[in-house]
Amino acid sequence: MERYERCISVKPDNPAIIKDDSLCVECGHCLAACDENTGVDGYICINCGQCSAACPEQAIRVKPEIQQVKDALTDKSKIVVFSTSPSVRVGIGDAFLDKAGVYSEGKMVAAIKTLGADYVFDVTFSADLTIIEEGCELLSRILTGSGPLPQFTSCCPAWVKYVEKFYPEMLPHLSTAKSPIGMQGATIKSYFAAKAGLDPSSIITVNVTPCTAKKAEIRRPELNDAGILLGKPEIRDNDYVITTKELAQLMEEKNIDFASLPDMPFDSILGKGSGAGVIFGNTGGVMEAALRMAYQSLTGEKAPDSLLHFEDVRGMKGIKEASLNIGDSIIKVAVIYGTANAAQFLDGDISDYHFIEVMTCPGGCISGAGQPQMHTIPVTDDIRKSRIKSMYSEDERMTLRNSTDNPEIARVYSEFYGKPLGELSHRLLHTGYNRR
Ligand code: SF4
Repeated sequence: MERYERCISVKPDNPAIIKDDSLCVECGHCLAACDENTGVDGYICINCGQCSAACPEQAIRVKPEIQQVKDALTDKSKIVVFSTSPSVRVGIGDAFLDKAGVYSEGKMVAAIKTLGADYVFDVTFSADLTIIEEGCELLSRILTGSGPLPQFTSCCPAWVKYVEKFYPEMLPHLSTAKSPIGMQGATIKSYFAAKAGLDPSSIITVNVTPCTAKKAEIRRPELNDAGILLGKPEIRDNDYVITTKELAQLMEEKNIDFASLPDMPFDSILGKGSGAGVIFGNTGGVMEAALRMAYQSLTGEKAPDSLLHFEDVRGMKGIKEASLNIGDSIIKVAVIYGTANAAQFLDGDISDYHFIEVMTCPGGCISGAGQPQMHTIPVTDDIRKSRIKSMYSEDERMTLRNSTDNPEIARVYSEFYGKPLGELSHRLLHTGYNRR
């Protein structure tokens, strides 16, 4: 990506976004988003796509993978497994309904089944898996000094690329836990394939995400761990990423009437998440989920009500901080959205923090650049807040609030992974990063 005087250009090999220069009126909105939110000043693309969400002319758009998905769905030799990220269920309705942020999980599953998916799984399952692995890594760093503190979250691929490029000295601080879709793909092609008696080579994994950077993430060359385990390194852990907008487009092409769809459940065995997994899409959601897990692990007791609604890490403030007592430990945390805000934070003294969550998009993944825009460019804070509220309401409605209580997670460890941070977990659920 090069910086022009008033706008950015997009290289043809960018895996996340495309640009049609003939539509560009050089209004400067893309560059402003890149400067103010992402802080990379139009020079180096971290694939967050926020420029595309700010472009009023549709000159910069999400790079589509719709045709590949349609081809897979009509290929009788393939088993097509969709997985939907937490934020998609509060974004997809925005493409079809008058009200923003309507919680539409059941209709979303029904729509994907109508498109012809063989299985529809829930990434909230792997959000719980991420919390277990990332939480155990954090506790290990705190209790045994197994790695430097603070630990940073690693589930936002734009943030990971930002650290690789601009703060490589901080790479040992990034959790080695893969993102939820990274864990989901590796688990589908290993554990699920074996349980269902499927040839992993015949499985096509399609992730529906709010995120354009996930299109770049799944193409990181090292993310073929299930294939390596199976002796077939040509198998990728994940095959395609389509955004919520692309899912809406697929539905429109098929004349699916979203409002009249019945509610349908996710398939098993990667179809159940806790409330902690659901709120992953909100800024502060990963932190809140991790603190619920850490409390239970350190004290042996259920997380108290104050941690099931931890206001200090919620809301549309770019940098939030909190400290809390868990057992004998005082844990100091920070939650940041916008890599420009993260840079400001990193340039200060962070030595007494234990855990820091960073998401690139404003308000977290609920306003990823792949979410529908409800005729407003860019999406307003009111729309973001509607989606955030919808996620917290669902969490409160659920009885399963902590990742450690998810019975499908207990089963995947007892039947396959063994234990968190164990040998197989390290091979399939953790990764490494590179100085760029
Ligand atoms: Fe993607 Fe979420 Fe990061 Fe935005 S905040 S780039 S949607 S992972």
